[in-house]
Amino acid sequence: MKYISILGSTGSIGTQALDVVRGHSDKIKVAAISGNTNIELLRKQILEFNPDLCCVMDDNNALELKKHLPPHTRTEIVSGMEGLIAAAEYEKSQIIVTAVSGMIGLKPTVAAVKKGKTIALANKETLVTGGNYIMNLSKKYKAPIIPVDSEHSAIFQCLMANENKAVNKIILTASGGPFRGKDKEFLKTVTVEDALKHPNWSMGKKITVDSATLMNKGLEVIEAKFLFGIDPEQIEVIVHPQSIIHSGVEFIDHSTLAQLGLPDMRIPIQFALFYPNRMENNYKSLSLTDIGTLTFEKPDLKTFKCLSLAFEALKAGGTMPAVLNASNEACVKLFLDKKISFLDIGNINEKVMLSHSPLEIDSIETILEAEEWTKQTVKKYI
Ligand code: MN
Repeated sequence: MKYISILGSTGSIGTQALDVVRGHSDKIKVAAISGNTNIELLRKQILEFNPDLCCVMDDNNALELKKHLPPHTRTEIVSGMEGLIAAAEYEKSQIIVTAVSGMIGLKPTVAAVKKGKTIALANKETLVTGGNYIMNLSKKYKAPIIPVDSEHSAIFQCLMANENKAVNKIILTASGGPFRGKDKEFLKTVTVEDALKHPNWSMGKKITVDSATLMNKGLEVIEAKFLFGIDPEQIEVIVHPQSIIHSGVEFIDHSTLAQLGLPDMRIPIQFALFYPNRMENNYKSLSLTDIGTLTFEKPDLKTFKCLSLAFEALKAGGTMPAVLNASNEACVKLFLDKKISFLDIGNINEKVMLSHSPLEIDSIETILEAEEWTKQTVKKYI
């Protein structure tokens, strides 16, 4: 029996991870879960999966959850960052699914790495902000990082075909989001509601807006650089609106492998949870003849500047990717609150980056200080 912790069990990845567990309940059990505000769903998850530990970020929500559980419930309820770290370090858990969204995922992920846990990485911020610092910790503590994100899972699977990792380039596919093919004039007037309509994937609000600005692809470029130890010049982003090819690798002999599948996140989640084994499931089979046509185009880097900012951030190095990430996190929140426009997201991100002098990352504190600096700096540009 395998035991796992799911940090962020009420979110899109978290609920799908639980669905994977549901399908393999004879092989995998949930030892710890965590959530933030969706107390009702946490209550249901506790009753169904009977974990040892459940962390609720907010203290009051934790009390509220306790009140609504049957008296005999054995699950221990903890709260706050301390509780989240306890779930990440939980002794029984061999795999930690880091499905919390945002910078909040950094500390618990580092804690799990230091305990030598296998990380099923779904929190983008970990590698975007921590980069080589996290990768070095993962090596030092023998804590493998298995990507959950569909693109990185695809690349990871393609790389398994070549032990020497003789890579020419990585082909990172992007759906293009809801505004593919649109120009700046059009984007000036788009609303929050428009941005939240993703053509292929159903996801949380933050990542859906990031898909619309192409920042999501930018963050994935940064992640791929660190996760696979390749140069940014070796990453080619291509727009592939059908989201069937999840990414690929061209090797030095110009042979290219790609991983295909229907856009169902349970496939990469299941792969990460059972790696290196393949497990059966009852998901829908991919029919290429039903789909008929797969198309590809170059991304419009001028209109969707967030993607080019990601390459710029990698070039600048040090804390710059963390600053871009934090600035973007703040800007997306402002956009969702209808305080700034869609195009402001990229414009403010650019201004914040221009006013930052990157520092080398030697601790989590350096990252968190860069984040704090960014929050203050974003305010100047609203
Ligand atoms: Mn992705």
